[in-house]
Amino acid sequence: MNETNRLPRPSPIWPPLLLLLAGVLMVGVALIAAERQNDLERERSRVRVAAALQTLSEASGATARDYGVWDEGVANLVVSLDPDWADKNIGSWLFKYGGVSRSLVVAPDNSVPYAFVDGARTSARLDSAGLVGLTERARAAARDDRPEVVGLAMLDGRLVLGAAVAIRAEDTEAVTDPISVLLLVQDFSGYILPKLAETVGLPNLSVDPPGPARRPAALPLREGSAAILGQLAWAPPKPGSEFLELSLPASLAAFAIIAALAIVLWRGLHGAFARLHRAYEEIAVSQHRQQVFLGASPDTWLRLDAGGVVLDYIGPRDGLTEQPIRPGDRIDQVMPEEIAERLRQATRIALFCGTLERFDFALGVPPRWFEARVVRLDQGQVVLTASDVTARKTAEELLVRQAHYDTLTGLPNRVLAIDRLAQAMSRADRGSTHVGVVILDLVNFKAVNDTWGHGAGDMLLVEAGARLSAVMRKSDTVGRLEGDEFLLVLPDIDSDEAVDRVVEKALQALRRPTAIAGHEVFLSALAGVCSYPADGATTADLLKNADTALYSAKRDGHSGARRFHRAMTDSLRLRTMIETRLQRALSAGELSLHYQPLFDLRQGRITGAEALLRWNPTDMDPVGPQHFIPVAEATGLIVDIGRWVLDEACRTAAGWRSQAGKDFRIAVNLSPRQFRQDIVADVAGALRLSGLPPEALELEITEGLLVNEDQAKALFTLHDMGVRLSIDDFGTGFSSLGYLRRFPFHTLKVDRSFVSNVTADGGDATLTLTIVTMARSLGLSTIGEGVETPEQLSFLRDCGCDEIQGYLISRPVPPRQFRDLLESGVAVPAA
Ligand code: C2E
Ligand code: MG
Ligand code: MG
Repeated sequence: MNETNRLPRPSPIWPPLLLLLAGVLMVGVALIAAERQNDLERERSRVRVAAALQTLSEASGATARDYGVWDEGVANLVVSLDPDWADKNIGSWLFKYGGVSRSLVVAPDNSVPYAFVDGARTSARLDSAGLVGLTERARAAARDDRPEVVGLAMLDGRLVLGAAVAIRAEDTEAVTDPISVLLLVQDFSGYILPKLAETVGLPNLSVDPPGPARRPAALPLREGSAAILGQLAWAPPKPGSEFLELSLPASLAAFAIIAALAIVLWRGLHGAFARLHRAYEEIAVSQHRQQVFLGASPDTWLRLDAGGVVLDYIGPRDGLTEQPIRPGDRIDQVMPEEIAERLRQATRIALFCGTLERFDFALGVPPRWFEARVVRLDQGQVVLTASDVTARKTAEELLVRQAHYDTLTGLPNRVLAIDRLAQAMSRADRGSTHVGVVILDLVNFKAVNDTWGHGAGDMLLVEAGARLSAVMRKSDTVGRLEGDEFLLVLPDIDSDEAVDRVVEKALQALRRPTAIAGHEVFLSALAGVCSYPADGATTADLLKNADTALYSAKRDGHSGARRFHRAMTDSLRLRTMIETRLQRALSAGELSLHYQPLFDLRQGRITGAEALLRWNPTDMDPVGPQHFIPVAEATGLIVDIGRWVLDEACRTAAGWRSQAGKDFRIAVNLSPRQFRQDIVADVAGALRLSGLPPEALELEITEGLLVNEDQAKALFTLHDMGVRLSIDDFGTGFSSLGYLRRFPFHTLKVDRSFVSNVTADGGDATLTLTIVTMARSLGLSTIGEGVETPEQLSFLRDCGCDEIQGYLISRPVPPRQFRDLLESGVAVPAA
């Protein structure tokens, strides 16, 4: 949290302290003001007292002047002293009504010819220095307009106010020396002081001796301008103090109430402030947390107004766009229009419905994917959160790919291939065209896998997929169903023939030799073919029927394509029946052997026979080996059956040797399944039982039987025993030259599918010639299988083929018939 963001917090100690200070200040100011008021009043009282004293003095002076400057007085006091007149007009009068305690007439020699003291005429002397001085000053001022002189003096230890005036006529010209003086004396404490107190309203006025003032206010009382005789002292009123005394309790009470109110108010304010402070801090902390949280998130946060203007942006600088987004930017200025429009839509919905709106969008090249979430805020604003979901999107795309494509070959997998089939079917419905559906199966793929390992098998599948894709149209689909099965979907086809042509092309493409794991291999495949809409209404039906056709092709044991027809379904039923019936065929004696001659082209005679198994069930029609041998292999029955064939063939052949010649040999077919058992012991047993020499026995191994270590060992053991080995049906399975070179074969049998075409198809003729030539170069003798015409015979002879086998010489026949053939010999029709 930023330090400057802190709310200033009021200190709890200041307000009471300030209040105390204010109280002290208030009291102080009141005290000072009161004191000042008191001082002022004191000064004022001093002025008043001084003025009143002056007035009283002047009044005494005026009285003295009235009586001294009086022609009648001159006559009765100076010229001839008349005491009675003096008593009546001055002494007694002034004593009674003027507060004059002494009225004296002072002669020029300062003797006192007349004295009226305290109400009675008496004799007196002028023994007060102060009064003498006063008398002198009066003589000096005798001719002045205002000849009276007033002053304070001590008389008999008491303070008095004396007023002296020269006794003279009113006319100043008439004044002559020596001069007598009228001296009037008033007792200060007894007369002046009460008058003064009354005039100025200070009842506590007193006369104190000179020295330091003992009372708050004092006025020095001087004898003229000389010595201080005493001091007037009084306690002046204290209006300030009085006011203070009166007002202070009320003021203090009022202040206390205000202070209490202020404290209550302050406490309330402080509480409110504290709460505000806490709330503010909580907000700040939560804001801080929010910022830390949002900052730590990899997401981008934008606060937008309803018009799409960015108000806030939190997130990596290049979180969304290459150019950093700043508050104030319009979203349609920083984002592509299409995305801005999606955002506008989401904003409208979020604002209107209050729902959380989501959508995905991509930015840049390569695209970075974001998931946008738009949610309503207050005041018509929304928050847009954009999370980078590129990794998730990539994974999803990969998953989709994995869900629809085969990882090994990269071809569409079963799901996608079937989906393409469905699409092709609906297109065909619209355009009244056909869809060709083909299931291709690689011959003996399993054996490649078993022999050379899965790596080799995988290479084979990849190669097959690539070859198939290469010959297909763009609109066709080559998919991998499973294992070595491929599905071809051929849309927009107008006839079955067109489908067959494509399939043939595909099979041809596969048949070219290839090198797998250092071995040269002749690839070949079987195909089951059907068409939409003729052979099924659904993808499942079409696949099932193509599979039935494929099965039928497999069962016949020949490479090539097989088109589905309804009867195949029957043959499936037949297979099920075979499976159950074959179990007891051997023990029931339903199996027999037929023999087909091997005819030597150079010698022009029969040099051997191939033993071919026949099954004549008692309760059903005879079943051909192409039907029951695959079943016997699949069920494992072939092992027992094969052992019986070996014994039976060897025994029969041994019987024919005397008639057919020493070089006569019997060829016995071995199924791959048999080869896995202890074949050496079986062969040795059959030879021993029949007494047939090993060289008179030739074991036919289909070329699909690729050998592993154990099988190789068995092959060599058999070879060492003197038994001949031949490779059967060469050209239909995985024919490998290396395989021929590696193992001790004596004979190669060229498959019937080549031979039957040698005169019609130039390609097959070339292949047959190649195979025969290659076999010869490897020192193998060759047998052409399935020779039905003299042309085929002569072609094979021209190729250098050693022997032939086929209906042209003889069909496979029962032993007795074969013996007849041996006896009579066979005539070979000329080409
Ligand atoms: P294969 O070993 O190639 O036998 C030759 C097959 O070609 C025989 O069919 C034979 O009748 C047939 N064939 C011979 N010449 C001609 C001809 O000119 N034209 C035509 N169209 N066909 C001809 P078959 O007897 O039906 O046997 C089929 C296959 O069954 C054999 O093919 C062999 O692979 C298997 N097989 C027969 N007997 C046995 C047996 O005892 N054990 C094992 N394991 N397989 C057997
Ligand atoms: Mg054979
Ligand atoms: Mg054969």
